[in-house]
Amino acid sequence: MPGSSRLPVSLRNTLAAQNIKQHRGELLALNLDVVRNIVFILFLLRWVRKTFLQLKGRGIIGTFADGYRTTCRIFYGIFLRLPGVRNKVQAQVAESILKLEQRLVPSGPGIERYRKLPVEGWSEDKVREELGKLSEMEHTRWEDGLVSGAVYHGGESLVKLQTEAFGKFTVANPIHPDVFPGVRKMEAEVVAMVLSLFNAPDGAAGVSTSGGTESILMACLSARQKAYTERGVTEPEMILPKTAHTAFHKACSYFKIKLHLVPCPAPSYKVHTPSVSRLINSNTILLVGSAPNFPHGIIDDIAALSRLAIKHTIPLHVDCCLGSFLVPFLAKAGFDADPFDFTLPGVTSISCDTHKYGFAPKGSSTVLYRTHALRRHQYFVSPSWSGGVYASPSIAGSRPGALIAACWASLMAQGEAGYIASCHAIVGAARKIETALRTDTVLAGALYVLGRPQVSVLAFSSREIDIYDVADAMSARGWHLNALQAPAAVHVAVTLPMVGAVERLVADLVAVVEEVREEERKRVAEGRGRKGAKGDVAALYGVAGSLPHKGVVVDLACGFLDTLYKV
Ligand SMILES: *Cc1c(COP(=O)(O)O)cnc(C)c1O
Repeated sequence: MPGSSRLPVSLRNTLAAQNIKQHRGELLALNLDVVRNIVFILFLLRWVRKTFLQLKGRGIIGTFADGYRTTCRIFYGIFLRLPGVRNKVQAQVAESILKLEQRLVPSGPGIERYRKLPVEGWSEDKVREELGKLSEMEHTRWEDGLVSGAVYHGGESLVKLQTEAFGKFTVANPIHPDVFPGVRKMEAEVVAMVLSLFNAPDGAAGVSTSGGTESILMACLSARQKAYTERGVTEPEMILPKTAHTAFHKACSYFKIKLHLVPCPAPSYKVHTPSVSRLINSNTILLVGSAPNFPHGIIDDIAALSRLAIKHTIPLHVDCCLGSFLVPFLAKAGFDADPFDFTLPGVTSISCDTHKYGFAPKGSSTVLYRTHALRRHQYFVSPSWSGGVYASPSIAGSRPGALIAACWASLMAQGEAGYIASCHAIVGAARKIETALRTDTVLAGALYVLGRPQVSVLAFSSREIDIYDVADAMSARGWHLNALQAPAAVHVAVTLPMVGAVERLVADLVAVVEEVREEERKRVAEGRGRKGAKGDVAALYGVAGSLPHKGVVVDLACGFLDTLYKV
């Protein structure tokens, strides 16, 4: 300011101060601008990165297809909420749920329902008598081998042994290892035995859980925590074969993990590993393969997934919940077997259900880790709780020691020889059904097997007749098979009770295929259209399943869950 020297000092100072203030103001504005630009650039980079990863992961066509599907879903959702449509849909859902209720919840004059505690306790004899009646309620006959999955052993002497084990440890809770040292010992031994089945290396570790779902939840949690603590991943993502068990979807929902689904295309129906590879990025916390998967009984290419896991140093979980005590014994029982366990260097965790082909009572499974460090990531420790220092290995706090004892007893009573023999019988029976499907003149003409199943489950479908009609017609003959969707198919999971019923299954399938064919032929000849009145399976999967928006299916499913608690 040139003339300022002639001004009074005070004024000069004021001006100088203003000058500085002005500069400061400019500086501040400039800084804000810079910050704003940086924020904008970061925002832009984030979206560019997201777009890049989306295009890299799904490709241009895949991205458009995803967008198209989302749009369809949104519009169909709006359509379903239109006043006229909504009332109609709700009425139909209510009707279906009512039908379900009539079938599941017994009613009528002879049925007594208990909605309140008896004022005086019943005599033990009366309790026993009522329990007897409850166990003999009319049901689908697993005892005759007519149920797919569900009961894996059910042999009388094993059940008796399990009940004795249960009885000895009814009060036991492994949360108190000093009170129940025997339970602690048995639990550690069950985990050790399963680790050794899966060729775990030195330093491997595991825990037992309440079932396959909890084992999978824990493996996903461990992977998420590992990625967070070691790499600071705050937006975790997981890559999953479409056929992997829905417990992984549950884990994503519970633990806020983004889910990428990878197709498992025909003819192999194994996960498409190049697609897995494209979806891997710095947020990926876990790859998954199944050995085998639930829908089609197919073992994914675990060796290829292991190579990917090693290349990108990300954990790989192998879901062997279903394969449990069959897959480790395939080779010893004389069947083909590809490596799938810890012998593959990329495999970091495995879930194995002792309560499936391990033949333990329901409520027991294991999750195994390659290292102690991985197991530690699933632990929960509460060091400053007013109730004391608290530590638990998995979701539950108190746990049933009785189930651990019954599991241990089952494993010890079978032994390696027992499991090899069951593997031989069960997988042999599944191969017999497969052979019939591929070679029987009626079956091979109408049905086809999905991929090359190697274990106990095989899925089949049809290009000629409605496969859901086949499922319904089998139900009418007392069978309980599992309906699958995307693609429409049916599967059968062979268990020990079913081994003796294989001939009957094949004969009934032949009869049913001819029946459904004849029915369709008749309808067409009479000009009534190929499709007739639908059974339950066909109604649910054939109609509701094909809709782009699953709101109706979700409503039906929630109604089903509500029904389970109707007295
Ligand atoms: C049964 C199963 C599970 C889950 O087991 P639950 O014990 O029912 O929770 C997981 N994966 C596969 C492949 C299964 O078949």
